[in-house]
Amino acid sequence: MIEQYQDIRDAVAKLCQSFTGQYWQSLDADNEYPTAFVQALTESGYLSILIPEEYGGAGLPLAAACAVLEEIQRSGCNGGACHAQMYTMGTLLRHGSDAQKEHYLPAIASGELRLQAFGVTEPDSGTDTTRIQTRATLVDGHYVISGKKVFISRTEHSDLMVLLVRTTPRDECKKPTDGMSVLLVDMRESLGNGLTIKPIKTMMNHASTELFFDDLKVPASNLIGKEGKGFSYIVDGMNAERILIAAECIGDARFFIDRASAYAREREVFGRPIGLNQGVQFPIARAHVQTEAADAIVKRAAASYDRGEPCGTDANMAKLLASEASWQAGDTCIQTFGGYGFATEYDIERKFRETRLYQVAPVSTNLILSHVATHDLGMPKSF
Ligand SMILES: Cc1cc2nc3c(=O)[nH]c(=O)nc-3n(C[C@H](O)[C@H](O)[C@H](O)COP(=O)(O)OP(=O)(O)OC[C@H]3O[C@@H](n4cnc5c(N)ncnc54)[C@H](O)[C@@H]3O)c2cc1C
Repeated sequence: MIEQYQDIRDAVAKLCQSFTGQYWQSLDADNEYPTAFVQALTESGYLSILIPEEYGGAGLPLAAACAVLEEIQRSGCNGGACHAQMYTMGTLLRHGSDAQKEHYLPAIASGELRLQAFGVTEPDSGTDTTRIQTRATLVDGHYVISGKKVFISRTEHSDLMVLLVRTTPRDECKKPTDGMSVLLVDMRESLGNGLTIKPIKTMMNHASTELFFDDLKVPASNLIGKEGKGFSYIVDGMNAERILIAAECIGDARFFIDRASAYAREREVFGRPIGLNQGVQFPIARAHVQTEAADAIVKRAAASYDRGEPCGTDANMAKLLASEASWQAGDTCIQTFGGYGFATEYDIERKFRETRLYQVAPVSTNLILSHVATHDLGMPKSF
């Protein structure tokens, strides 16, 4: 089937061929960051695809960025190492001042500046974002920040971070969503001057970290938009993030389905290909059907986003369906490979671990169901 942005897809798939399973297996074993892969993607311009042309990007729609991420995943690579360089700048683009945009966006587009850290989650608030406790107080032209964040990805490989903080205590605000602000933190100036980064080892190689803020000073000019309005700015960026991650899951699912169907055709047991048995065939066919259905919603969500229409429910549904399709496809792929599915050299178990994340982050399945139940089906909100 000829897909949208087929030329981009072909070029991304070609680039990814240089980053073989062995490359990823060795990074995985040593828990190392895929610097060469990220460098190649940066140089090719794919990570700045969403930045408008006036700031040095390609100015393409979200659907094109989805095509890039899907192909990366389908080829067996892992876009999780750098996907945030594509979309974190959206907060700056939509809500930053002209001076901030002119200062930062061209350098982000060229890759000179890496903006791929996005700090929201905290140990004590979890999904309940309005209860974040990281505080920023304005003193003599600087925000002084104290608190901690957890599971913040790629901070050791980022020059800038978009950080959500509380600037007014929750109990002094009219609404719990008021009183939070977004700051652009320069990691290079902050490390060792009030910011400490501690890596968290996770079940996949994801460069995740804990952050400790101990009176970190950030210039007041690094406030994005208006003080107290940060929550709405973060929510604005969530739809794009969910749609893009859903596209990655479609890529993962297709990786598993490609591998499983090829193996089922080739592997012979009892004197015939295992794929001749419908017990092997049908789960792969079912995973394909589920993936195609999920992909249709991902494309619908991306198209609404690109038309500037409200797409919250579609973005959420796309992420839920695609993350479940990729997990199901991964499970089926392991079953098809039998014992070999567990051997690292086949890359199946690595991709299986990697794709599991997307039922939890950036938002968990339960929270998506809660959105659909309350926004679309009119049921009462439980929290
Ligand atoms: C590898 C990794 C990378 C990440 N990267 C980032 C990042 O870069 N930046 C960032 O800010 N965050 C990041 N996160 C955090 C991620 O977004 C959160 O882990 C996720 O949103 C869930 O929050 P939590 O872990 O605190 O779970 P909790 O909020 O403690 O929830 C635990 C479980 O309970 C369920 N639950 C909670 N409340 C309800 C309810 N009312 N109804 C039904 N179910 C409920 C949740 O669905 C979840 O399954 C990352 C996480 C991981 C694991």
